[in-house]
Amino acid sequence: MEKKQYERPIIKPLNTGLMNKFGTRTEYTPTTHIDGVAVSELIKEFGSPLFVLSERKIRENYKNAKRIFETRYPKIQFAWSYKTNYLNAICNIFHQEGSWGEVVSRFEYEKALKNGVPGNKILFNGPDKTDDDLRVAIKNDSPIHIDHLDELYRLIEIAGELNAKPRVAIRVNMDTGIYPMWDRFGFNYENGQAWDAINKIIAGNKLNLVGLHCHIGTFMLSPGAYGIAATKMADLALSIKKRYKKTITYIDMGGGFASKNTLKGTYQLGADAVPEISQYAEAICSALLNAGFETEELPYLYLETGRALVDDAGFLLGSVISNKRLSDGRRATIMDFGVNILFTSFWYDHKISPAQEFGLHTEDCVLYGPLCMNIDVVRENISLPPMKAGDHVVVHHVGAYNITQSMQFIAMRPAVVLIDMNGKPNVIKKKETLDIIEINEVLPAYLKTFNLNSTQEIEK
Ligand SMILES: *Cc1c(COP(=O)(O)O)cnc(C)c1O
Repeated sequence: MEKKQYERPIIKPLNTGLMNKFGTRTEYTPTTHIDGVAVSELIKEFGSPLFVLSERKIRENYKNAKRIFETRYPKIQFAWSYKTNYLNAICNIFHQEGSWGEVVSRFEYEKALKNGVPGNKILFNGPDKTDDDLRVAIKNDSPIHIDHLDELYRLIEIAGELNAKPRVAIRVNMDTGIYPMWDRFGFNYENGQAWDAINKIIAGNKLNLVGLHCHIGTFMLSPGAYGIAATKMADLALSIKKRYKKTITYIDMGGGFASKNTLKGTYQLGADAVPEISQYAEAICSALLNAGFETEELPYLYLETGRALVDDAGFLLGSVISNKRLSDGRRATIMDFGVNILFTSFWYDHKISPAQEFGLHTEDCVLYGPLCMNIDVVRENISLPPMKAGDHVVVHHVGAYNITQSMQFIAMRPAVVLIDMNGKPNVIKKKETLDIIEINEVLPAYLKTFNLNSTQEIEK
C-alpha cells in the first residue's frame, strides 16, 4: 500500500460573515429608486448621507397590521411607540391612521400632546416618571402604566393631593420561554408581585385599575411567546374579575414584533427568518379569545407595535468616500455614514445595495463609516460590486431606532426626507448646522478670548 503523502496543516484567517446552505449571501441587486424617485436625484437635491422614509410603506404597514388584528379580534387599538421614531411627521401619519400615542418619557409625552393627541389617548410607560410627570399625566387623564412599587406609592400620594382617581395599568413581566427574561420592568407574574400590586391598587381604592400592560422584549422571533404572555395577562384579568367583580378595560401587549432586518450572527436572512405579523396576531388573539372571558367583557387589545411598522419604510442613502486595502489584503470601503447615524448597525447586518447598475463581479469587503474611531464599522463583511469614490448605496430597513438614537458625534446629522403619497419628497427634518449644535452651549466671558501669537514663532 502506498504511503499517503504528508500535507502540512495550514492556518488561514476566517473572516466573520456567514455562508449558509443558500450559498454566500448576495445582496447587491441595485436599488436605483425609492417610491419612484431616483436615489441620485435625492442625493443631488438633499445631500449625502440622507434618511428617506416612504409614507406609502408606513400607511401600508399600518393598514396591514390593523386588518390582520381586526379580523382576529373585535376590539383593537394601536398606540404609536414614540421612541421608535418620533419625528412629528412620522407620528402624525400614524395618528392620521387612528393610532394613539405611547411614550416612555416626559419629553415624548409633551411631543405627543403638541402633536394634538388627546391626553387620554397617550399611554405613559417607563420606569422614570417624576412627581411632576405624574401630576401632568393625571390632569390629562392619561393611562399611567406603573413600573414599580415606589411609583405606585408616589402615585397614590399625588392622586390624594390632586383629589383625583387616575386611570392606571401595571406593567407585568413574566416567563414566556425566552431567556434571558425581561424582568427589569414592571411586576413579575410568576412570583406573585403582579397580583400583589393589583391587590394593593384595588383594595387601596385610590387608583382606577383599567388595564394590564406588558412588553415582553424587542425583536421577538417567537410568536409563541406572545401566546404565553397573553394567556398570563388574561389570567390576571380573570382573577381580578373573580375576586373583585371588576372588569379590566384593556390588555396592552406592548411591542417587540421583529422587523425584516437580519440580526448579527443569525443563520438565515431576516427576510426569511422573521415571523409575519399574522403569526403574532394569531398567537395573541387566540390566547385572549380562548382564555374564558364573557364575550361582552372581552378586554380591548392594545398594541404598541413600533419597529415592525416603520423599519422597512426607512432608507439611508450614502456615498463612497474611498476604497483601500487592509493589511491582510481585504478590501475596505469607507462610507460617508457610520454608527453615529446608523446606531442599529451594532446589532443588525443591514442589507446594503449599490444605487447604480454594475456587472456581475463582486468582492467581500468591510464597510467603514467616516468617523475617526475604530468602532465605526457598518458591516464587518459584505459582498458588493467594486464601487468607486462618489458611488451611492442604499441601506435598507433603517426606519426604526436610528433617527431617534443617532448622535451628533464628529459629524452632523443628515436631513430626513419623506416621500409622500404622490411621490414628492418633503424635508421633515433639516440637516444639522453648527448653530443648532451650539445652541445650548454657554461660553463664560473669561474664556472668550485667547492669544496664540506670542507662544512660538512658526517657521517661514
Ligand atoms: C420600545 C417599546 C415599544 C416598541 O417596541 P418595538 O420593538 O419597536 O415594537 C412598545 N412598548 C414599550 C413599553 C416600549 O418600551
